[in-house]
Amino acid sequence: MLITGASQLLTLRGRVPRRGKFLADIGIIRDGALLVRDGVIAAVGTRLEVESLPESRSAEKLDLGGRVVLPGFVDSHTHLIHAASRAEEYELKIAGASYEEIARKGGGILNSVRKLRAATVETLKKRAHAALREFAAHGTTTLEAKSGYGLDVANELKILRLHKELSAEQPLDIVSTFLGAHVVPAEYRSKRGGAQQYVALLTDKLIPEVAAEQVAEFCDVFCDRGAFSVSEAKKVLEAGKQHGLAPRLHAEQLTRSGATQLAVQLGAASCDHLEQVSRADVRAVAKSNTVATLLPGCDFHLGLRKYAPARELIEAGAIVALATDYNPGTSPTMSIPMIWSLACSQLRMSPAEAIAAATINAAYSLLRDHKIGSLESGKQADIAIFDVDDYREIPYYFGVNKCWMTLKKGRPVFQKAHT
Ligand SMILES: [Zn+2]
Repeated sequence: MLITGASQLLTLRGRVPRRGKFLADIGIIRDGALLVRDGVIAAVGTRLEVESLPESRSAEKLDLGGRVVLPGFVDSHTHLIHAASRAEEYELKIAGASYEEIARKGGGILNSVRKLRAATVETLKKRAHAALREFAAHGTTTLEAKSGYGLDVANELKILRLHKELSAEQPLDIVSTFLGAHVVPAEYRSKRGGAQQYVALLTDKLIPEVAAEQVAEFCDVFCDRGAFSVSEAKKVLEAGKQHGLAPRLHAEQLTRSGATQLAVQLGAASCDHLEQVSRADVRAVAKSNTVATLLPGCDFHLGLRKYAPARELIEAGAIVALATDYNPGTSPTMSIPMIWSLACSQLRMSPAEAIAAATINAAYSLLRDHKIGSLESGKQADIAIFDVDDYREIPYYFGVNKCWMTLKKGRPVFQKAHT
């Protein structure tokens, strides 16, 4: 297939990962075209270059009439599988209850855990399929998905197996992460030493089973006040590493815990949130290959004023990525374009920096930058096409979905009606 007539084709080619001033390198080709063969990009260049290739003459042609082409988004942090929204808590939050107050009253994550344990696989799957269609409709072609609403052996495995089944049943790629250490479940909270017993269940039983079943690639911990301490997180992530699960970490969201420095020490793929990082944390992550994944959707939804210090991180040389953190409690959105708007207006990232953060750097954090995250020969033809003349209009029209078509491995998985 020959895709031609792009007013701007954002290739995102160049050095990986992107740090500092290179984050804004997005490799724009004006009047660009792409040749796709068997789901893989065969050629990228200007319309003249690509149309003159012998293979282009016989190819099926898609003329974009001046629309903008970019790599399909890589959403590197989601909690895809959950049973229901928490719209009832949304009102409490608006009225002034904090996230932690709601959690202490049995709301928050434990509310979602109760609902997930009661839900059938079919119900969960139906909800996830609907969400995946929304992700595709907003230009996302690969997403990471975490467990963490099961918090016992049967229910954590139920979620992780679903990641695998969903990956096989629908076109988007799902990268599975085990987040058994989301919070301590209710049945362990009432016991003396319950938290330690739960950590032991994770390290001695669940992690070995998850690894043996090959239902996750990564292991994550929510390291914060009300969740797990740095030393507990270390135990869990080290056990994960021993079983071949690469570490990721929820770090410095509500309080500064020291989780960012733990992520760096362990060589984690990513440390996510970072609203409360210190200067020393910024310096440490900037010197490392651990990606700093920012999730401004959470702060926006919770009405918090303190966003992660994106400019400081970028200027220090950290590898910055952006993701939705799609989840029912703090960030119910499947829209990377909305996150892109928030990154620009709240994190003061330029539109170019933000797109690199949500494609190539996010792909790097999922250890898939060799396959996805940029439009280059030999990479998967994961492509998002937007109905705008200039890519900067995508975040500019906040809350408006300008996605016109999404291709996964060269096949349309979303197409806007009536255009
Ligand atoms: Zn999260």
